Amino acid sequence: MAAKKLQSIRGIHDGLPAEVRAWQRVEAAARKVFGTYAFSEVRLPVLEPTELFVRSIGEATDIVSKEMYAFTDQGGDHICLRPEGTAGAVRAYLQGGLTRSGGQRWFYIGPMFRRERPQKGRLRQFQQIGVEMFGAPGPLEDAEILAMAHAFLSELGIGGLQLEINSLGCTACRPAYREALVAYLHERADLLCETCKERMDKNPMRVLDCKVASCQAELSAAPEMVNHLCASCESHFAGLQAGLKALQVPYHINARIVRGLDYYNRTAFEIVTDQLGAQGTVLAGGRYDGLIEELGGPATTAIGFAAGLERLAMLLGDSEPAVVDIAVVVLGEQVIPYSLQQAAKLRQHGFSVVHCGGGSAKRQFKAADREGARFVVVIGKDEMQAGVATLKNMATGEQQQLAFEQLVNVIRD
Ligand code: ATP
Ligand code: MG
Repeated sequence: MAAKKLQSIRGIHDGLPAEVRAWQRVEAAARKVFGTYAFSEVRLPVLEPTELFVRSIGEATDIVSKEMYAFTDQGGDHICLRPEGTAGAVRAYLQGGLTRSGGQRWFYIGPMFRRERPQKGRLRQFQQIGVEMFGAPGPLEDAEILAMAHAFLSELGIGGLQLEINSLGCTACRPAYREALVAYLHERADLLCETCKERMDKNPMRVLDCKVASCQAELSAAPEMVNHLCASCESHFAGLQAGLKALQVPYHINARIVRGLDYYNRTAFEIVTDQLGAQGTVLAGGRYDGLIEELGGPATTAIGFAAGLERLAMLLGDSEPAVVDIAVVVLGEQVIPYSLQQAAKLRQHGFSVVHCGGGSAKRQFKAADREGARFVVVIGKDEMQAGVATLKNMATGEQQQLAFEQLVNVIRD
């Protein structure tokens, strides 16, 4: 009886070659564009102390209350697989003693873990491309960060994306707004879904982005933060919009944009598509001026965003398959060592080369075909002695005998 095959955990996918090629296209665009804004890559741990997220994200959030993969390890430490990147980035910034170095501009690419209900575009292990700017005093930084996000997605050539911005206010103006919102929600409590009822008092702003249609209908006249901003939040929001206009980044104000995490203030934004159904947010972020202090550092302004790598990859067209430039076909046992050397030399020229391993010519040509090789280089005993090879162009069928140096030029053209 055949052994039972094990499956991966639900919502946790393998990145097989074709998919990884799409991811790499997204990553390459990120590295290129973020580099032009002078952002540096950081690589941060996947395991963090659970307390880091409880303190930063907040216990009332979905992430901390029910989505974290948290456990006690053999030594009794409470650790978890990171559900997002910002808290760990702030921890690293403080631990690395970088607070006196002026601003920091970071980006990272890596896996995040949330125990969500798996569905299209919603995984339990997914990858984020995240950006954090520590020391981002004003709306100008917000505008530039958004312009960078926009440039990144433009570089990928994904159409039909929309930037939506909002202001979440600050500790001066949000409490009064929150009260007005909670009062509004209480008046309609019976008409809201169970989740909204639960969130109403603990995390009322989250009710605003409930996906249930009947809730959205009840919320149509809900008070909006943008109409309750204090003077300095108001001028920040106006400054952001002026910056976006100067940079010619198109945007919409969407008063329903909130962030799932507690630490955001003022600017919040999402870039959305209508092509992925309910999971249409490909990039989301905002300003979090209080977080660094909350985690034990000096008061530091900051802003960041994270993009879902898998969701972006789904929006790309098919990626080119990996190209094999040359398949080496060997005729005769005694030629094998020499053919291995020639294959290695061709690789030094930068070509991707597969060696077909010897044996019958028919089998080797079949293998070359399967690999999709652009050229086949045939080496037999006579060719070896003469220092030449037969080059076959697989697209045209054309064959010619050439010295190795010439062969390199023909393939390169
Ligand atoms: P959503 O509203 O879709 O749950 P979120 O507010 O939880 O998103 P963030 O924490 O802001 O998402 O994460 C930033 C981005 O990471 C999202 O916009 C999305 O593209 C991606 N993302 C978040 N959760 C998942 C997931 N479970 N699977 C795949 N991608 C995800
Ligand atoms: Mg979520």
